Amino acid sequence: MDLSSGVTLNNGIEMPWIGLGVFKLEEGKQVEKAVITALKNGYRSIDTAYVYHNEEGVGKAIKASGVPRSEIFLTTKVGVTQQGYESTKEAFHQSLRFLQTDYLDLYLIHWPQGKLSLDTWRAMEELYEEGLIRAIGVSNHDIHHLEYLLSNCRIPPAVNQIEFHPLHSRPKLHKYCREKKIQVVAWSPLMQGKALGLPEIQALADRYQKTPAQIILRWNIQKGVVTIPKSGNAKRIISNSQVFDFELSARDMNVINLLNKNSPMVLRRDRIKHLFEMLKSRKFDRKLLSLLSNAVGDRIQQTLKI
Ligand code: NDP
Repeated sequence: MDLSSGVTLNNGIEMPWIGLGVFKLEEGKQVEKAVITALKNGYRSIDTAYVYHNEEGVGKAIKASGVPRSEIFLTTKVGVTQQGYESTKEAFHQSLRFLQTDYLDLYLIHWPQGKLSLDTWRAMEELYEEGLIRAIGVSNHDIHHLEYLLSNCRIPPAVNQIEFHPLHSRPKLHKYCREKKIQVVAWSPLMQGKALGLPEIQALADRYQKTPAQIILRWNIQKGVVTIPKSGNAKRIISNSQVFDFELSARDMNVINLLNKNSPMVLRRDRIKHLFEMLKSRKFDRKLLSLLSNAVGDRIQQTLKI
């Protein structure tokens, strides 16, 4: 197994086990440097999103890397403010232009938004059937979101990209996704760096002579979870990919499994508190709109149990 090895999705296409996440890498030199470093060192999967505002840099870097587009698994996401049937199609074509490509490997709904997401999904199904996207999927979907989508779609999602790290490894959702043949992809697999200092992870790193990040990323893969760690640092981009030369024992896998505390990084109540703070300060920006629609959509879905 190496960086080009992958898992076969429910529609038969292959997705690499490891990709580079580019959230918070700034448009321009910063994101370009990271993507070029990754591709030159064997990465074959890049995860971006409309809201990261760095799709143009990702596109430039792919061109500059010299790696053929056909060897790269490229993911982006339709943003909260872009959802809807027509607007998703527009958003998709805008992302293609930014990314300088004529197809995507994976297009995801970034956050569920109740009924509106069904219109988004219909647009994505059509783009998929036109051959413009190799696989379509979702992100941040809990079981009730997936049930709603599955009972209202023609093409089931191939992927669910979710917050997944040692303190939040979502056993129920993971099991549900496995049963429905929806591949789980871990976002913030390193808990944005915070999981690296956990004493249990440190102890395993010492014993296996690996970095804490490598231990966690290897745990992801052995659990059958695709992982997309972010780094803007060349050394860490490279070391994060060196996880194919060792194996965690079943006992050590379980040590990490037992760290789960069902503890997401941002709790729902923090999101709502943040939303009210922004409302009070009257800063009506893109982030506010996105938080508002997520909170309202989620609440409606929970109330109606859809
Ligand atoms: P990660 O868990 O990947 O952690 C990234 C942080 O860890 C950065 O601060 C990075 O710093 C540091 N880091 C990376 N490797 C190492 C290492 N070997 N040793 C020490 N520190 C390290 O966080 P992200 O939130 O970025 O998640 C990964 C990706 O998931 C995102 O980039 C994005 O693509 C996706 N994502 C998707 C979301 C969604 O809603 N669908 C939400 C959030 C993320 P440095 O850069 O300095 O190395």
